[in-house]
Order: sequence, then C-alpha cells, then structure tokens
Amino acid sequence: MEKQVQDLKHQLEKQCLINQELQRQNKDLEQRLREKDRLLQELHSQYHDLECPSLSSSEGEPEFRKSRAAVFAPEPIHEAVEISRNKVKKTVSETSLIVKAIQKNDFLSRLDDEQIAMMVDLLKASQCKPGEEVISEGSEGDSMYIVAGGELIVTQAGRDLRTLTKGDVFGELAILYNCKRTATVRAKTLVHLWCMERQTYRTIITNKSKKKREQLMGFLKTSHTLKDLNDMQLSKIIDSMEEVKFQDQEVIVREGTEGNTFYIILKGEVLVTKNVNGHQKMIRRMGKGEHFGEQALIREILRTATCTADGPVTCFSIDKEVFEETIPVEHLELFDDSKVMQEAQAPEKSSLSSSLKFKDLVPVFYQEGRHQGDPVTLGVGGFGRVQLMTTITHGKYYAMKRVSKKQIVAKRQEEHMLFEKKILKAIQCDFIVKLYAAFKDTRYIYMVMEFCGGGEIWTKLKEVGRFDETVTVFCTACVVEAFAYLHKKSIMYRDLKPENLMLDMRGYIKLVDFGFAKELMRGEKTYSFVGTPEYMAPEIIKNQGHDFAVDFWSLGILIFELLVGSPPFSSSEPHKIYTKILDGVLKYPPYMSEASKSIISKLCRPRPGQRLGNTKNGIKDIRHHRWFSNMNWHKLRMGQLDAPTVRLIRKGPSYINFDQFPQDHTKADEELSGWDRDF
Ligand code: ATP
Ligand code: MG
Repeated sequence: MEKQVQDLKHQLEKQCLINQELQRQNKDLEQRLREKDRLLQELHSQYHDLECPSLSSSEGEPEFRKSRAAVFAPEPIHEAVEISRNKVKKTVSETSLIVKAIQKNDFLSRLDDEQIAMMVDLLKASQCKPGEEVISEGSEGDSMYIVAGGELIVTQAGRDLRTLTKGDVFGELAILYNCKRTATVRAKTLVHLWCMERQTYRTIITNKSKKKREQLMGFLKTSHTLKDLNDMQLSKIIDSMEEVKFQDQEVIVREGTEGNTFYIILKGEVLVTKNVNGHQKMIRRMGKGEHFGEQALIREILRTATCTADGPVTCFSIDKEVFEETIPVEHLELFDDSKVMQEAQAPEKSSLSSSLKFKDLVPVFYQEGRHQGDPVTLGVGGFGRVQLMTTITHGKYYAMKRVSKKQIVAKRQEEHMLFEKKILKAIQCDFIVKLYAAFKDTRYIYMVMEFCGGGEIWTKLKEVGRFDETVTVFCTACVVEAFAYLHKKSIMYRDLKPENLMLDMRGYIKLVDFGFAKELMRGEKTYSFVGTPEYMAPEIIKNQGHDFAVDFWSLGILIFELLVGSPPFSSSEPHKIYTKILDGVLKYPPYMSEASKSIISKLCRPRPGQRLGNTKNGIKDIRHHRWFSNMNWHKLRMGQLDAPTVRLIRKGPSYINFDQFPQDHTKADEELSGWDRDF
C-alpha cells in the first residue's frame, strides 16, 4: 500500500515536472512569436524606404525622434494675377517638350488636364551659365523647372547623384509648398530652363478652381429638378460629381435604356436624337453648361432620347445612387450629443483659468536616468517644446507648451497661434485637450494645458508595432467624437495623425495641436496647402479647394495606420507620397478584417462628396458603420467604457509614458512687434 502511494507520488512529481517544462516551452514559443511579430512590423515599416532609397534628409528633426512634420502654404492672396498677363507664348515644339516632360513626371502627370494646360501656359524661360546653381540643398524652394536644353548635375552632400538633360523635371514639389530642397542642381553647360514660381501657380490654380465651382453652380441652377436646392446643397453635389470623357461619336445615353446618371457638359458638343420610324431624327445640339439626364436622379426612367458626342466631350456626372447619398444634407443634425450641448451652454464651473498664475507654475524634474535633475520635456514639436509643470499648492500636473515668438513670426504662424489659443479656450469636449491658461513674455508664448499622462498614441504604436482591432476601434471612436464636436462648431482639424493623439490616464484619447485648425462656413471652401503629407486628402494636393471632408479622409488613413503600423500612402520622398495619394490605390494586408477594409475605403474615397461622414447623414454614417457595431457611443461620451488602451499605459513617475528629452539651454530672442496683443 505504502509502495503504491510512493509510486503514485513519484508519477505525480514527474508529471508536474513535465507540465512545468511544457509551460516553459510554451512561454518561450509565445515570446518568440511576439518577437517575430515585432520584427515583421519593423520590416513592414522599413519596406517603403527600401523600395525607394531616400533623397530627402531628416534635417531639422531631433535625432531621438522621428515623427512627421506638417507642412503649410497659405491660401494665395486674391491679387488678380491675370492669366493673360502671365502667359508666355510657346512654339509647337516647345509645347510638345513641356507636355512630354509633364507626362513623364510621376507627380505632375497626376494633375488634371486643366492644371497641366495652365502649367504649359505659365512656364517662363530662363537661362543659366555653366557652373551656376539653380537650386541649393537645404534652401526653401519656390520654383519648379523643366530642362529645355543643356545639362545639369544633381549633387547631395557633395556626392554626384545624376545628370539632368532636355525634358527632365526638377524641384516640382515647390509648386505645392516651400519644401526644403534635398539636393543641389548646378548647370554643367549653358542651360535653358522653363520655370514656374509657386505663388503664380497657386494663385492661378486657386482662382481657376474657384471660378470652376462658381460656373458649375451656375450650370446646376439652370436644372429644373435641382432648382429648389440651396447653394450649400448644390456645392455638395459638385463635390460628389466626377469628370468623364467621351470620344467623337460615342453614345453617352441611349434611348430606351434605363437611365441612372445626370450629365453636365463641360467641353465639346452633344447631339440629341430620337428614333422616328426607325430613323434617327436630330432634335437639338447641346454645348457647354447644358445638361441632360436629370430625371434619372429622382425617378426610374427609360431614356427618351439618344445623346452622342460630336467630337471629344468632357462631362461632369453624378449617378442616382451617389445623388441619393448626397441630398438632402442634414448638416444641422450632424451631432446628437446632448451632454456636450448642455456643457457648451453652461460655462465651465471649476475652470482654473482665472486662478492659475504663471508664477505658481513650477517644473517637474526627471528623478533618474540620463537627464536626472533636468526639467521634464514631454515633447518637441515643429514650433516649440512642451514641458511638464505642477503647482506647489494644487499638486496637479500641467503640460505647458512654450513657443518662441520670433520663430512664429519667422515662419508666419502668427494667425495659427492666435487661432489655436482661441479655439482651445472655447472648447469643452472630453476628447480634446483642455487649455487652462495662456501667458506671454517678450520671448515666448505659453499655453498651459491639461496633462495627458498616458503619452502619445504614436509612441505606443511604435512600441507594439500595430494595434488590434479593439484598440483601434476605441481610439477612432474618440476621434470621431472630437470631430463631431469640432465640425458642429464649424472647425476643421486638418492635422490628424497618431502624433497628435494623446492618452489620458484612463486610456481615453484627446486631440492636441490645433495649429492647423480652421473655422469654415458650411458650403465654403478654403485653398491652403495644409497637413502632414501621409494624411493629406487629394483635393488639397490638387488645390481644388477643401473643407470638412479632409478630416474624414485622414480618419481613414489613421485607421489604416493604427491597424497596420504604417500609413497606406508612404515613401521617404514626399512627392512619391502625393503621387500615391492621387493614384488612390489602397493595398490591405491579409490580416485586416472585411469591416476594417470597408470603413477605410469609404472614408478614403477620392471625391470628397462621396466620403463616409460627408454624405447626407453626416457623421452618423460613420457611427453606424458595422466596424463600430460593438461600440456604445453613449457610454463612450459619458466616459463609462473601460478603455482597451489602458494596457498600453505604464505605471511609474508622471513622465514614464514619454520619451526623455535633453534640456533646452538656449534662450529665444525677444520679439516686440506686438502681433500677440490679443494672446
Ligand atoms: P507640431 O506642430 O510639430 O506637431 P507643436 O509644436 O505644435 O508640434 P504639439 O504637437 O502641440 O506641438 O506638442 C508637441 C508634443 O508635446 C506632442 O506631440 C506631445 O508629445 C507633447 N504634448 C503636447 N500636449 C500635451 C499634453 N497636453 N499632455 C502631454 N503631452 C503633450
Ligand atoms: Mg503635433
């Protein structure tokens, strides 16, 4: 009996050992799997760079951090740069060289016909002697060039990269914004160039885009079916319409067939014919601005005549399906959050803004590590740094953004800064960082904000490679709430990216950085070039005028980046990013769910009027998408959901969720021009 017990005990111990060993191996495997996953992620994010070796420098960025900078070019001032005054006559062979050069260029060839035609008209001739520098590395660009004759050499950091000859294009990004030149181009021989300044291009394209919208508006107003719609609704229709081209003799609509598209003629002529006793009888001829097929938008009909292109024809068209998505527009019903509404009416009760004094704020210091004893810097942005502060009396933490006034003036950001403060001060939304107070002295302006102790979503994303769907849905839902609040107040955000999303200690997301936000009337458009390249909507790149819809585009990009670890359109060279955006081909990795793919593709539709969030039910359509089927929006707003992001947050000293930054020992120059009077 005793022996049996002993035996059993032995066997049990052995089994325990085997179990332990198995568990250890399991852990090991798990660990290795995780490691593999991380490596895969890293490889994935490096993939784009390998695909196209970098020409651009990371100059200006601190070496300890590699986040993406936003870029900006303001809306051109409305001084009437007359097209005719700037036109430069060209011979047939000159025109053909330019057109070929544009078509050969990856980025320029994506612009539309009209923009290309403009370019051909506006290019100016210039000459360079051998040895002369056309553009120099590190400087800010304001022109682009096409080589009409001669040879040039491209160098980077003293290294020869390539030779440019007749028909080559260089510096093309400069027509969009004042990008830093990444290489030097010098004439080798006597060189003839065609060149164009950004200011000219942007002013004229902007005016042209505006005129085109006005003209389309006029055309739409002559439609009997649409006559009761207001300007805002007509503008929406324009946003949803697409350009289609027809060749000579092509039948656009055929009598007797089912119709579902409405057309406006932009260019060319259309013949309308009817079948009379087996013969095509000519009814009339239509030209620019005339339209046909409007009945198809509102009822099921069969076409009552045939329309045929007489010569090449360009139309603007909209399908019934899209039209139904577009009208009626319920902008005023965009946001249904009664809690925020109430808050907006009642001023904040316990706001610190009145009681918080600058002299009460003291920095928090690093307690260990390389920078022990230095004040804590939470982040360094394009314009300044954000420091962690506290008060002796409250013991509460604050994030204080400090920006050099001189730098603001140098970068012409005065209005953005004033607006950032104005917006943040007026905002009362749980998904947007709160501004408690603002101060200034002769060198800096300071914004004292609520401290988001969980760190940046960007940092967390880099740490884990990519987020699972639960975390991504939660983060996105917070952003949707922030956007709903902002859009309701007629504010576009325009700089969505993981770098601008912060976590509070509960794991809820807050939007920070309102440097590029803008107020816009419904139905209006703005023409600035603004945003972070990877997140920019196509209408911004094409300078067609943009509005709230750009935020929905960037929301699609954000979902993609959070799920994958890198954005869908990326490259180390900005112009390649823009080219990819204009191509608009989204490639989804195999692990992405159908619902994720669906919401991303609906948010990233090239036509702003067709984008989810910007169709007739507004933001509600985003909330109702099946990707969000498990989201309880009400509980989210009330802060009653357990955030899945909470597992990303580390416990420890207040700054543990942030990278550590060295102290800034420099002192900005004084700036006394007085632009900050109202700050
Ligand atoms: P850029 O325009 O280059 O994005 P910026 O100078 O406008 O930068 P912000 O983006 O506002 O500055 O802030 C820079 C960084 O500081 C953020 O990315 C973040 O890491 C940190 N930060 C900003 N606000 C807060 C906050 N309220 N709490 C904690 N950290 C913050
Ligand atoms: Mg930022």
